Amino acid sequence: LAPPFTKALSVMHKIEAAGFEAYFVGGSVRDTLLHQPINDVDIATSALPEEIKTIFPKTVDVGIEHGTVMVLWKGEHYEITTFRTESTYQDFRRPDEVTFVRSLKEDLKRRDFTVNALAMDQKGNIIDYFDGQTDLANKVIRAVGSPHERFHEDALRMMRAVRFISQLGFKMEKETIAAIEKNHALLEKIAVERIQVEFLKMLMGIGRKNGLLIFIETGLFKYCPGLRNHEKALEAFAKNQLNLSTSLSAWTFLLFYLEVKSEEVEPFLRAWKCSRKEIQQVETAYRALKVRMNRSLDRLELYQTGLEIALEVEKMAESFGIPVYPLQVKETYESLPIKSKKALAITGNDLISSLKIEPSREIGLLLEKAEKAVLEGKVGNETIQILNWLKEER
Ligand code: ATP
Ligand code: MG
Repeated sequence: LAPPFTKALSVMHKIEAAGFEAYFVGGSVRDTLLHQPINDVDIATSALPEEIKTIFPKTVDVGIEHGTVMVLWKGEHYEITTFRTESTYQDFRRPDEVTFVRSLKEDLKRRDFTVNALAMDQKGNIIDYFDGQTDLANKVIRAVGSPHERFHEDALRMMRAVRFISQLGFKMEKETIAAIEKNHALLEKIAVERIQVEFLKMLMGIGRKNGLLIFIETGLFKYCPGLRNHEKALEAFAKNQLNLSTSLSAWTFLLFYLEVKSEEVEPFLRAWKCSRKEIQQVETAYRALKVRMNRSLDRLELYQTGLEIALEVEKMAESFGIPVYPLQVKETYESLPIKSKKALAITGNDLISSLKIEPSREIGLLLEKAEKAVLEGKVGNETIQILNWLKEER
């Protein structure tokens, strides 16, 4: 057992000692069988949330309506979820239709794909009711049970399917693809925030090309914000090898391939429910990338872009075979006399008192002019120098 599992063993023992079952489930089991690093382990149990809360002294109700309780134990925290199902074999029903059950098999049956429906006990034995291990070995994403029914229950699973194709570098089983083709329009019912999570993971996966091509071929793309009329551009985006490892580069490349106009970037990203901060960063990176396709950023542009994004843009540009100079970018950035407006040696108040200007739009324009002059080395970043220079320029 890998360390994240062994750490959790005492939690499992405690649940068993109280007379319940506990298993590792989901992504951590899949990834450990693939010899891939695992993040957090999910634990499923036959104990009800209330029972878990009596077993452990410190718990937090993180998603108790879905049966998830967070247990704080020996300096770590664990998400423990009661076996639940969407089937009719129920012994508990919550108002929001989550049904708790005592059977592991019922819990695994409601999971999306066979490779995600594996469980592992404390000794490392794998419990596999749906032939997930065969699909793991063959690198296949296959719905548990009837794909058509499973996508009807929850249309987000279609996006999850293409996400796992990309993330794991797997292929998709035929009937599962066919069911997506048939049901793609159901994606419309899913909140964009949830689609975005899967979409970004798809763009950032090692199997991006395959994942995106299936996303296109099955028609899922038509139900994502701003993509409907861009089949050809998306195909080009899928087929090119790109240095794409962050959500910033994912969005920026996407805009680049779709040739989104500057003024349409904000509405496009807002439709995808990106945060204000994300939108601002992507706008900055996109503007810089378009310049970088033709030439290096000048000092003013580098200042406006900021070092972190400028370096990311160098990586992106490299994807297009452009020679890049990250060290030079860093040196130039470090040599900039100011790194932000705050570092400028004059303020609006200085202008008002020294140049006798009324508070007006002109103040902002003069400050911008001064900022630019300082960055271009026309004037030193000192109050008197800047004021004298501005007096002459006005
Ligand atoms: P990773 O965390 O590596 O992205 P994961 O498989 O752990 O992948 P999660 O989204 O964390 O994915 O979900 C954990 C598990 O919960 C899945 O492995 C799957 O068994 C189940 N699951 C999650 N979402 C769904 C869903 N929409 N329908 C059915 N089962 C789901
Ligand atoms: Mg997970």
